[in-house]
Amino acid sequence: MSFRFELHQTDPQTGARRGTFQTPHGPVQTPGFMPVGTQGTVKGLTIDQVKSTGAHMILGNTYHLGLRPGPEIVRALGGLHAMFAWDGPILTDSGGFQVFSLKDISKINEQSVVFRSHIDGAIVDLTPEYSIEIQEALGSDVAMVLDHVVALPAPDGEVQDAMERSIRWAKRCLEHASRADQAKFAIVQGGLNTELRQQCARELATMDFEGFAVGGLSVGETPDEMYRITAATTPELPVERPRYLMGVGRPIDLLESITRGIDLFDCVMPTRNGRNGFAFTENGHVKIRNAVHKTDTSPLDPTCDCFTCTRHSRGYLRHLFIAGEMLGPSLLSLHNLHYYQRVMAGARTAIEAGTLTEYIAEKKRLWGMQ
Ligand SMILES: [Zn+2]
Repeated sequence: MSFRFELHQTDPQTGARRGTFQTPHGPVQTPGFMPVGTQGTVKGLTIDQVKSTGAHMILGNTYHLGLRPGPEIVRALGGLHAMFAWDGPILTDSGGFQVFSLKDISKINEQSVVFRSHIDGAIVDLTPEYSIEIQEALGSDVAMVLDHVVALPAPDGEVQDAMERSIRWAKRCLEHASRADQAKFAIVQGGLNTELRQQCARELATMDFEGFAVGGLSVGETPDEMYRITAATTPELPVERPRYLMGVGRPIDLLESITRGIDLFDCVMPTRNGRNGFAFTENGHVKIRNAVHKTDTSPLDPTCDCFTCTRHSRGYLRHLFIAGEMLGPSLLSLHNLHYYQRVMAGARTAIEAGTLTEYIAEKKRLWGMQ
């Protein structure tokens, strides 16, 4: 089997897990964070810079890459690994989240979701099978099933209908898939209703997926609601498979979710916030455009050994942002990704040492959260 999840340790206090997910392109240490490369690039960074942050697996986007350049062009260019020039594992999402966020221009039926391309207005008929075909052409190591995501809050009936359709679509994805070198991950839906979430998780767990994701969260609900749903869902998932919380979140959300049994994360926050001049540091948030940094010769984060922090001052970084220079967003994205990886590496070490609770308490103190 090309894929194997080795569970090394479970924290007796919290239930947090330390594992290794083996893929054809190498291991992913968990808990782990995946930088998002929506369009075949982690925005603003070269692949060597991404690698320097300590990332093990990166994420590509089926919706965007399926529309442009299109699956056949990606295949002709040697697949996503060749395009990215990344020899490590890649996960692709199914496009479900993006399509359903275009709710004015998408239409769902049992067979598929039909939407207009945001690029040229062309009608696209995205079936679960076609989503898998696109991901097989992209050649990712992990393909996500196409799911039906509803905007929250929504009536229970609507959430249940979407959840049940997501299960039927997951089965269709599994049956259609033809690449043995590509793992399939199911996605648990069910909104903010714990019973629907648990029912969905139990039904998906009966199918032969290499991993399971919790989807449809981080869409405007409070962090406590997200933690509650995650905590209710993970006990229903197979212990011996990796669990991925999609699209989450802030460093504190990652740590809180690790204690609720999550192994993998992805989020645009480190790069998107970095582009906007917002840095995550060991001592909390830094808004680099603020005048207070004007003549500051100290590094963005004195405890960080990334390129940005070892070479440049806050004053210089602020200048780049004020002058609208493209290097500023790149340098902050690089630092933020580095910081996320550092928080995750610290969590892995803490789980191994049995000190995760203390590690999280210390981070909260440093981040000014308690
Ligand atoms: Zn740094």
